[in-house]
Amino acid sequence: MKKPISSIVVLGAGSAGLLAALTLRKKLPAAVSVRVLRSPRIGIIGVGEGTTPNFPAFLFDYLQLDEERFFREVRPVWKRGIHFIWGPRGEFPYAFGNHYSVSDTGFRRPNGFYSWGDPYAAGFIGRMMQQRKVFLPDDNGQPRFDGAYGYHLENVRLVSWLEAEARQVGVSITDAEVTGTARDGDRIRHLVVDGQEVVKADFYVDASGFRSELLHGALEEPFQSFADTLICDRAVVGGWEREGGDPIQPFTTSETMPAGWSWRIDHREHVNRGYVYSSAFTTDDEAESLFRKRNPRVETTRLVNFRSGHYRRSWVGNVCSVGNSAGFVEPMEATALMVLCMELRALAASLQEGRLELRSSLIDLYNRFSENVWSEIHGFLMVHYKFNTLLDTPFWQHCRDLPLPEDAARIVGFFQENGPSSFARDWLLPRASQFGTEGWWALLVGQKVPWKIQPPSPQEQKRWAERQIRLEHAVKHALTTEQILATMDSPAHWQRAREARTRQPA
Ligand SMILES: Cc1cc2nc3c(=O)[nH]c(=O)nc-3n(C[C@H](O)[C@H](O)[C@H](O)COP(=O)(O)OP(=O)(O)OC[C@H]3O[C@@H](n4cnc5c(N)ncnc54)[C@H](O)[C@@H]3O)c2cc1C
Repeated sequence: MKKPISSIVVLGAGSAGLLAALTLRKKLPAAVSVRVLRSPRIGIIGVGEGTTPNFPAFLFDYLQLDEERFFREVRPVWKRGIHFIWGPRGEFPYAFGNHYSVSDTGFRRPNGFYSWGDPYAAGFIGRMMQQRKVFLPDDNGQPRFDGAYGYHLENVRLVSWLEAEARQVGVSITDAEVTGTARDGDRIRHLVVDGQEVVKADFYVDASGFRSELLHGALEEPFQSFADTLICDRAVVGGWEREGGDPIQPFTTSETMPAGWSWRIDHREHVNRGYVYSSAFTTDDEAESLFRKRNPRVETTRLVNFRSGHYRRSWVGNVCSVGNSAGFVEPMEATALMVLCMELRALAASLQEGRLELRSSLIDLYNRFSENVWSEIHGFLMVHYKFNTLLDTPFWQHCRDLPLPEDAARIVGFFQENGPSSFARDWLLPRASQFGTEGWWALLVGQKVPWKIQPPSPQEQKRWAERQIRLEHAVKHALTTEQILATMDSPAHWQRAREARTRQPA
């Protein structure tokens, strides 16, 4: 029998390291110690501000963290999806929730089939995004939090809240830089800290960001690069303070740019923008100057370099890598925190299943899971580039010419023959798909990729138009972010939320 682990060291205290420490502390027996080491000299990356809906679910359903404290300290706003300024239509929504792949009562086919003329018509969240609204009201005029939302949050605020939560559950956090390691084959024997002290644990989580100190640095796991197919490798980032009357947009904007694309993320007090570009198609100076021209209110700017890809295995011996140190793809769909939550659930479940023993069968399974996650994201992001005809610069010509990976090509081929069908989704998509048919169809309908099926009959079109009137009517009374924040910041809101929770059956 292998010896069960009783001590864990997490290297890094960015969002990945702190969330890993919290997860392991909360999900493993209390006898397992969890210690975080972080280097104040190196610091955190400080970017990463949009999430997907799995993030609130991870924090509040899975980890059972305190939502009120989160709102008070992190000050997030809600994100209902992505507004793409993209493709032959000029724009389209990628709304969270199920819209394209579900059928409204009385319709023969999923809603995606009727949304060709107007993707905003697929469901109420897209319509709300179009009108800068965020949630429908309940009978008392209070927001109905329906679960199909992520957040816009500031990385630095998130990290400081996570640190406080981690300390509260007994995670110890030490300021210390790892300067060396000793290994036995594919295991780390100990870490050397600040050039002298030896730190030992049974298990190590590498959350050291792009440096990947343990997985890559010490264990020399090779990197599988996507650089030939996801060619953006830099971002210039900046923002400005919001002025009164400037409405908070409840979605991320992704806008086509000559050598890449640009995001806009709204926070309560300021707006953050970034131009993600390929250094093969523009220079840093050119990118910065275009970014400033398009965003004259931008104050200081910052350049961030990255590479898209992942390490071949994320878990080797007694080291499991999470967050940017395991892999990263350009932030088009804000997948990093999403992948992190998936990784941490899988890691905690594997350690629980193995009764804290490091079993090779569970490690192999974890690595297969992680490989599948990266592979789907890779194809999904390439589809964004393949069909965007909004600009015809050398960058976009190059991206459109790139062949899709096999799995993504199969999904697109199915769509071109069968349209946004919900048939056989379990055979078509990768197992445990992160985006589901909903995500794939949102992109393909949004980018006007044609399919062969006959258009809806005139009767169906008439009924679809009538449905739109009902949708418009429902959305007319939807609430803006500002309206909701005015009540969220009040003690009465949290009193109501607590009462609602205590009324729920256990
Ligand atoms: C341009 C850009 C935009 C992004 N946008 C998004 C987004 O919208 N949504 C999203 O989900 N993600 C986004 N990301 C990804 C984002 O960076 C991650 O989600 C997230 O912040 C995870 O960071 P991390 O904790 O892995 O790394 P980091 O924040 O870099 O933390 C690394 C930690 O390791 C420590 N460390 C490193 N080496 C040592 C050492 N030798 N000794 C001791 N400590 C050490 C550091 O001090 C630090 O504490 C974006 C990334 C980029 C580059």
